Amino acid sequence: MPSSGIPSARYSRQTRFAGLGQAGQQRLAQARVAIVGLGATGSTIAHALLRAGVGYLRLIDRDWVEEHNLPRQSLYTEADAAQLVPKVVAAKAHAQRINSACDIEALVLDLHAGTIDQALAGVDLIMDGSDSLETRLLINQWCVREGKPWIYSGVLGGHGMTANFRPKQACWRCVFTTSPEPGSMPTCETAGVIGPVVGVIGNLAATEALKLLSGQGQANPDLYMLDLWAWQFEQLPLPTPRPDCPVCGLRQFDLLEQDSAPTLSLCGRNAIQIRPQQPITMALAQLAAHLQQADLRVIQTDYLLRFAAETLQATVFPDGRVIISGTDDPALARGFYNRWINH
Ligand SMILES: [Zn+2]
Repeated sequence: MPSSGIPSARYSRQTRFAGLGQAGQQRLAQARVAIVGLGATGSTIAHALLRAGVGYLRLIDRDWVEEHNLPRQSLYTEADAAQLVPKVVAAKAHAQRINSACDIEALVLDLHAGTIDQALAGVDLIMDGSDSLETRLLINQWCVREGKPWIYSGVLGGHGMTANFRPKQACWRCVFTTSPEPGSMPTCETAGVIGPVVGVIGNLAATEALKLLSGQGQANPDLYMLDLWAWQFEQLPLPTPRPDCPVCGLRQFDLLEQDSAPTLSLCGRNAIQIRPQQPITMALAQLAAHLQQADLRVIQTDYLLRFAAETLQATVFPDGRVIISGTDDPALARGFYNRWINH
């Protein structure tokens, strides 16, 4: 290993690449990146940055691995799905075997106004793998307020798009000036998605990350869009920052200031998430004992507890979050929560 601390043989193909070079590789080793959402896009991005030698990755996701993730989400296995492993825990375990020198932090966490400061503090770049409009709006406000760059990635069906949003340039809200009504747009849950488009968009975003982190190369100045199924590709130049943009122009950060709502519906999943107003530690072992006294079958792992009762299924996390599956009705879910979990 040379005095720089970069293993010379391991990254020789990258350091020989004139666009990156030894200096760029050294900057990657010093770089700190947060990836929000470890689904298909986030897995692709994490995999690329990990292999490339980025020094620190913070993986943020609230979900566990499910069988229907396996066609696209390249860091997970059937065993992860069978064992209900949180995505970031599974991703970290696999990633550490690929690159043991990468410092990886796994946060099983729901990103909202109450958690975003902790989740994104101290990184150089934020990568969006969230598949959520609500989360993107939140990331955009946080990054504008804090003066941090982020890279947007979105996929749906055979379509994908990506753009770089950097301080003092147009923000996401300058480009997407109107928000669709919640629930009015198709999602990957309702319209589906194919794996290759995720791989393309995730790797485009990862390439941009390598440029921004290494300080080398010409970063993408556009909103880049493609439809792989129709074989169509389009680049729209990002506008100049809009003085009347509510986020970067008027600096209104309403989403960061609102109290986190106690109940959140997961659109299209026939499930409701209930989360506590304040951070708590849920006593999973005691809850399991109570439920077993009621003759319920309980599955408990190091990271979650799951049981079924009445017509619903609940998945309970140590931070107090509960996902109640089998209903779209918040009142029904709240009643179930009060009967079985929060007596
Ligand atoms: Zn803006």
